[in-house]
Amino acid sequence: MDIINQSVSLYKKTSIQEARFDEEAKLSEGGKKGALVTVTKTSSPKNNPQENQTLTNKSTGEILSLKKDRDYRSDRWALKSVVGDILPKCRTSKCMVLRAPDPVKGGLRDIEVCKSDKLQKAFYQGLYACGDIWNCPICAAKVSERRRNELKTALVLAKDKGWGIHFVTLTFPHGAGDDLTDILSKMTKAYGKLSSGKYSVKEQLKKLSPESEIFGFIRALEVTHGENGFHPHVHMIVFTNKETESGLLDFVYYRAWVRACRLAGLPEPSRLHGCHVQDGSFAADYAGKWGIEDEMTKANQKQAKNKGLTPWGLLRCILDGDDLDYPPKRAIGLFLVYSAAFKGKRQLYWSNGLRKLLGLQKELNDQELAQKADDEAAYTLATITVEQWKAIRKCKAEVMILNIAESNPLLITSVINNFVLSSGDAGPHSMGEGVPFYGGRGPTR
Ligand SMILES: [Zn+2]
Repeated sequence: MDIINQSVSLYKKTSIQEARFDEEAKLSEGGKKGALVTVTKTSSPKNNPQENQTLTNKSTGEILSLKKDRDYRSDRWALKSVVGDILPKCRTSKCMVLRAPDPVKGGLRDIEVCKSDKLQKAFYQGLYACGDIWNCPICAAKVSERRRNELKTALVLAKDKGWGIHFVTLTFPHGAGDDLTDILSKMTKAYGKLSSGKYSVKEQLKKLSPESEIFGFIRALEVTHGENGFHPHVHMIVFTNKETESGLLDFVYYRAWVRACRLAGLPEPSRLHGCHVQDGSFAADYAGKWGIEDEMTKANQKQAKNKGLTPWGLLRCILDGDDLDYPPKRAIGLFLVYSAAFKGKRQLYWSNGLRKLLGLQKELNDQELAQKADDEAAYTLATITVEQWKAIRKCKAEVMILNIAESNPLLITSVINNFVLSSGDAGPHSMGEGVPFYGGRGPTR
């Protein structure tokens, strides 16, 4: 057995039980440079019911929370490869495939495996990140993790200022035959009307209760798919002075939302489902979970369906191919409709002036957040050559490399050095910017 197969065996063991670090020396010594990689399978993206487990590096004392993090990462890479298959021309198909341009030296960056002690995880540096939060599960997770932290910070700062915090949910009746692009565009018009003119929520609130005041809001756009077709909706965290009560805000929002939907050409929202204003504890709960995709994609299908499938849930149905309600052909069609409708839409919007009021810096865009290093203080464990990266991708071993970097960092160079292509594998593509290495991007299964 060559070193890669030994490494894979070790990796599989470390995923479910304490790592055997005493294996490292033996494996490192046994590594033979230039051996042809014969990895045929990495980790399964399928959900594993086992609970999260921790791993302690006996030499450094580092504690790694491996099981869930690894399952989620493996899932994200697998789901991203589905997007590459069904939307081969979108920029997500090049994400974590091509090298990123080097803004300092010019040319393209080196591909590095970095490790962060602070985050207790490994990640790639120097690869292009698409930043498409609607299409790319990898970039979406990265961007939402950063935005989630900002949401939480905003809530803490608002609380410190003694502000009132409210959680608003807005939706409208919809059906399976609706055109998503059409209803999404009408909904965008509708929520725009909530903050403009004399019928805006702010003005109407002031009219009813002069002592009440809205300081600003953060609005998040979301969508799920269920029995009644696509369900686009918005959640808002609304910041007010402490005199403003959620009950009053509920009344004002509902009235304004009904008017806005009517003017935008949407069906009238019901009092029961169309508008909810809840207190700050719901906002905190929402902010704490925002963008965490596992609830929908990793829960069992039945549970997920009660809430509606997220776009990542659709990708999962394509990958697994075993859902009776969402067979792959249907799930692909729905994902393509969703992708086209949400292209260019803003997922999270901070009302004008709110960040300044809270003392927060200017917001980075999705692309900037996605391309940013996971941890600026991370160190480089290994540099991967172009040929090695081609071989790693060919073996679909991208996730395995990161897992080994986390659990067996001393092994990583030996493992990477053993990834080489046989003479016929390189194919016609170069490592040039904008050109994938090779066409095959099947799911990492
Ligand atoms: Zn991406």
